[in-house]
Amino acid sequence: MSGEESRIPQPRRKTIIAIDGPAGAGKSTIARHLARRFGLLNLETGAMYRAFALKALRAALPLEESAGLKKLAAETSIRLEPGGDENRVLLDEEDVTGLIRNPTVTDAASRVSIFPAIRAWMVRLQQQLGAEGGVVMEGRDIGTVVFPHAEVKIFLDAAPEVRGQRRFEQLGKSGRAPAVQPEEVIRDLHARDERDRNRADSPLRPAPDAVLLDSTDMTLEQAVAAAEAIVAAKLKI
Ligand code: C5P
Repeated sequence: MSGEESRIPQPRRKTIIAIDGPAGAGKSTIARHLARRFGLLNLETGAMYRAFALKALRAALPLEESAGLKKLAAETSIRLEPGGDENRVLLDEEDVTGLIRNPTVTDAASRVSIFPAIRAWMVRLQQQLGAEGGVVMEGRDIGTVVFPHAEVKIFLDAAPEVRGQRRFEQLGKSGRAPAVQPEEVIRDLHARDERDRNRADSPLRPAPDAVLLDSTDMTLEQAVAAAEAIVAAKLKI
């Protein structure tokens, strides 16, 4: 490289932080904090699967038939708008943010997400959303499939009972869930885990270069601090 060329600043793609892990491990809280702390946009990919599941439920489509779902996907638009505490989710331009966190949609999201055609579509949308970098993206396959070259990858986990209890408390606080028992939440979470971990297409698993963070014995504040330390070390800041 000539002296002239070496003075030209190299365009550096802005940071991508990938956070993957099962439900209730604390991904959303941690992603939100990291986004604030490091000045990045926070993108929740689960909300996109949820929005599509809502559309399939409204259309009364059988959730185990990939052909019908694929056809529906072709006529669906899903947009995520990064916001303060959570993303605004637009399904065919309708704001469905408040409609996608109930147990029926949650279960349907994990069912529709097993199909390769649906995943390929979502992955494409997510890659477009993060193309400029400057994002924390959370989901199940961000470090393995969506952004395998992300600068920072964290795989967040916790014991199933702890995740179930956290999810139960979260539902209570959000005021969005009908009255459910903790056992029911834990059972649903197990079923979802099984599906996410055992599907053939991009199952939930840590990328080989992900840093594993087990938050079982941590408060969420401690887990946030640990995640911040991981990011700071990786980005050398
Ligand atoms: O993260 P959240 O619980 O909102 O995700 C809902 C469901 O969407 C998950 O249980 C999973 O089946 C699916 N999902 C996925 N890949 C992602 C994000 C979510 O398969 N990147």
